[in-house]
Amino acid sequence: MIAKTTIQLPEKVLQKHFGYSTFRPQQLEVITHVLEGNDTVVLMPTGGGKSICFQVPALILPGVTVVISPLIALMKDQVQSLEANGIKAAFFNSTLSETEEHVILDRLNKGEIKLLYVSPERLYTPRFFELLQQINISLFAIDEAHCISSWGHHFRPEYRKLSALKKQFPAIPVIALTATADRAVRTDIGEMLQLQQPKYFISSFDRPNLSLAVLPGQKKYQQIVQIIRRNRDESGIIYCSSRNATEKLAEKLQKAGFKAEAYHAGLNADERSSIQDKFIQDRIHIICATVAFGMGIDKPDVRYVIHHNMPGNIESYYQEIGRAGRDGLPAETVLFYSYRDVQTHLTFIEELPDDKYQQIQRTKLEQMQKYAEGQICRRKILLSYFSEAPGDDCNNCDVCQNPPKYFDGTVPAQMALSAIIRTGQRAGITTLVDILKGSMSPMVRQLGFNHIKTFGAGREYTAFDWQLFIQQFIQQGIIELDYKDHYNLKTTEISNDILFNKSTIKLVSSETVRERLDEQKKQNTAFKTVTSVVNESLFEHLRKLRKEIAEQLGKPAFVIFSDASLKDMSGKAPTSIDEFLEVSGVGEHKARQFAAPFLKAINEYTSGKTQGNAYTESWELFQQGLTVEQIAIKRRIHETTVYSHLSTVIGKGIPIDIHNLVDQYEINMVKGAVAQLGNNQPIKTYFEHLERQVSFGKVRLIFTWLEAQ
Ligand code: ADP
Ligand code: ZN
Repeated sequence: MIAKTTIQLPEKVLQKHFGYSTFRPQQLEVITHVLEGNDTVVLMPTGGGKSICFQVPALILPGVTVVISPLIALMKDQVQSLEANGIKAAFFNSTLSETEEHVILDRLNKGEIKLLYVSPERLYTPRFFELLQQINISLFAIDEAHCISSWGHHFRPEYRKLSALKKQFPAIPVIALTATADRAVRTDIGEMLQLQQPKYFISSFDRPNLSLAVLPGQKKYQQIVQIIRRNRDESGIIYCSSRNATEKLAEKLQKAGFKAEAYHAGLNADERSSIQDKFIQDRIHIICATVAFGMGIDKPDVRYVIHHNMPGNIESYYQEIGRAGRDGLPAETVLFYSYRDVQTHLTFIEELPDDKYQQIQRTKLEQMQKYAEGQICRRKILLSYFSEAPGDDCNNCDVCQNPPKYFDGTVPAQMALSAIIRTGQRAGITTLVDILKGSMSPMVRQLGFNHIKTFGAGREYTAFDWQLFIQQFIQQGIIELDYKDHYNLKTTEISNDILFNKSTIKLVSSETVRERLDEQKKQNTAFKTVTSVVNESLFEHLRKLRKEIAEQLGKPAFVIFSDASLKDMSGKAPTSIDEFLEVSGVGEHKARQFAAPFLKAINEYTSGKTQGNAYTESWELFQQGLTVEQIAIKRRIHETTVYSHLSTVIGKGIPIDIHNLVDQYEINMVKGAVAQLGNNQPIKTYFEHLERQVSFGKVRLIFTWLEAQ
């Protein structure tokens, strides 16, 4: 029993149990509203911190908080995270054995559980429902509340039964939570649950920590590898458009030495949950998935989400990129876009049975396409799509970073139009590019397009340029893509205005797009400064420790501490328990459990006893102007080790001019070996291939440097 006088303040509970010193926007307002006994609907983006909104009240209120959650995997994670904070929680779902059920029922009766997670199916089994009537329930929390609405894309019939909850327990307040941004669904939630004058708390759906980029869908694999490399050993998701594509990509990445796995609905339930578990426990880093992956994944430290193809609507896209950076740390999202994606979606839409539904999907696709082709701040487009007033340019998207440069594209447009006319409107995009470039493709030969006057007229531009131009001609309506005629290109009503110089057309230069591609490459070097690298090596050191502890305890690493906590910890480098408690995400329970090993590791690190900062020390000496030999002597290490330290630095994205360290001749040799053997061999293979003429340390250094170029 809690006496009235000991009622705890939300801020205190947050600090004591969760180790956070301040609430995020809206959290305290929601909690206060709930504690006053009202019904509440919370709309917060993924990663906004919805859980705290019911977990803090659960700890303050006298009885049990029953959390209804649709996904078993999610329940397990949440309960584990709560237990790691010393909070008494349990879940009740179909995975439990009868004995396990008994244990939980017993604990409930004894008042030993503060938060009980339950699936909607289980809630309404007679035995459980009877039990609910006997225990002291303080609050119902309905997570993923959009599942109740048939408007939403995640409708679950079992959720419908929850409509009766308010009648069955009229006195118990309900809090419903969702990350869905759809207006129809929002209203549905309050109505379907029959909430009593619920208050809606709507947060901004902006996720400023996610960078946004759209890149042309050519040479995707190389770019994907770059993204993976700059997020080394971090988690990422790559969404692909088909099962086959997920498997192919995963296999290719595995062969290149990455820990990747495919995930799609064609796998059986066991395979799927095993892959999910491995991902959550950081045993695999990359999931190549269809859209089947994600709902149930609560992993806070996903550092990038890549779309191998464009999704069919902005809702899905936003939800999928939303799975990156839930911990609030920077995360990147890249969408590969090519016109073909639009065609593929259109073909699917045409197969849909209902005309009206087809029309809705077509409109949604158009909006997605506008986003992908957009030349204004992408975040502005997204936020206004969700009816949110967008603020200033975000500076964290590719358009903000490289605003479009325009040029007068009338002449290339005339070339393209005249070629289209001369083909008798029988060429698709690829063939048109071949004609303009003067390339003898089988199609060109077969249809005799090499004899038309415009054959080769556009040689001054690359195929890449032409692809980008044609896309823009279609956008601006001077060329049409005819879906009904094999996607061949046709002239339109306004084509003649361009052809006969009555109007001009402005194009975004392909240089803009190239700059955006380069920007991607530079990204990793840009934000890394000396100090952040030094701290980062402590961070890496602590991550290793966390992994060891997680493996010993058989728990996911983020349950021990989130990346955000470890970042804060490496920045603060605490030396005592009191300082340790200052770290974000360290509550009293975790401090008791983990302060000792972490403080020890930090102490060892800062006193220089670990391997962890070895490379930064070499690098600092190098920056002071010492040669590799001098560094080796000074540090009493082998020269090979110094080279390896400098390679690590380059691998972290810090540019080092290696021309002071190796000859151009040596660089050329390694370049030659890589050209012959491919870039995914162990260093030793190149070394042997060069018959040991270049030292091992140098081979590694040159290889890493070449990769970073
Ligand atoms: P959601 O359910 O809205 O997607 P979560 O509840 O999982 O988000 O929270 C996302 C992350 O933010 C979690 O790691 C959580 O611990 C953290 N978090 C929540 N509230 C706070 C806070 N007030 N201060 C710091 N971190 C917080
Ligand atoms: Zn922007």
